Amino acid sequence: MPIRPENRDRYPLDWPEISAGIRFGRAGGRCECLGECARGTHDGRCPNEHGLPAYGTGSTVVLTTAHLDHTPENCQPDNLRAMCQGCHLHYDRDHHRQTAAATRRAAVEAAGQLAIDTRPEHHKGEPTVIENTNNPAARDDFLLGALLGQTNDQLIGAQEARGQQQLVHSDRLPTELRDDRAAFEALGFVFGTPDADDPLFTPATLPDGWTREAADDHDMWSYVVDTLGRRRVAVFYKAAFYDRRADMHIVSVREYVSSQVYRERPIVTDDTWATPQAVVDAAQARMNECDRHLNTWAKDNATEAVRLRAQRAQYAAVAAQFTSAT
Ligand SMILES: [Zn+2]
Ligand SMILES: [Zn+2]
Repeated sequence: MPIRPENRDRYPLDWPEISAGIRFGRAGGRCECLGECARGTHDGRCPNEHGLPAYGTGSTVVLTTAHLDHTPENCQPDNLRAMCQGCHLHYDRDHHRQTAAATRRAAVEAAGQLAIDTRPEHHKGEPTVIENTNNPAARDDFLLGALLGQTNDQLIGAQEARGQQQLVHSDRLPTELRDDRAAFEALGFVFGTPDADDPLFTPATLPDGWTREAADDHDMWSYVVDTLGRRRVAVFYKAAFYDRRADMHIVSVREYVSSQVYRERPIVTDDTWATPQAVVDAAQARMNECDRHLNTWAKDNATEAVRLRAQRAQYAAVAAQFTSAT
């Protein structure tokens, strides 16, 4: 981990010598992590050696010295470990997360406003923190990864996937709504006050029995799913620090029907939202759209015409299925 400016005078003056002694003396140039990093990619001692390609990624290993208790002043040999960048980043990342979680828990408890935990039983009580990727600590991680040879695509992809996982395991939702707040509240959402240190997100309680789900094919979308397993709210979160943003909107019946057809999943009706009639109307609207495209821009495009006709047939089948149910 690069030494942060605010921590610089917490390191002893002879830190370069101490660190070199650990890395190249005691450790013999090899990562000393025995699994403390918790990344679960190596059994026993990490095989990575300074200057050689790292296992898994092939990027050049740069050995660093980690403080196991994250206290720069504590330079006792048993508190120090030579670590490759992979182990060190992972070890410190968990620390950042825990620190942020502890800070937030303390703030929430002090305010006497513990949010209701709507997650499954086995997840209850876990920290529910969305890392602010604009924070200096997160930027340091990103920058170090870049310096150590990971490509921007790998780093950004990992940051977005991590943001998605944090979001679905948190009790937060985006502050920015693309539909009226009243429409969300009518569904049963209850919103708190946006987080002071990260106004992008707001504590939120879901309607009874509704859950969160990450998209299976995209890192920036997740959903709030109702008791019948239907995606009712679409949440967009781009966690990449250079363009970090989040919002959400209420899924329309039309959007629901299209996405089920696209994903080849069954459509589930009820008598208040996706009624059989509403599903037929949605399918009909999509068929009309296909016809319009077939008669305009796809007229002279054989490949697109084939695709649109197949899509139209899928919507026609949905319309037929639910017409008999109306
Ligand atoms: Zn290692
Ligand atoms: Zn390790």
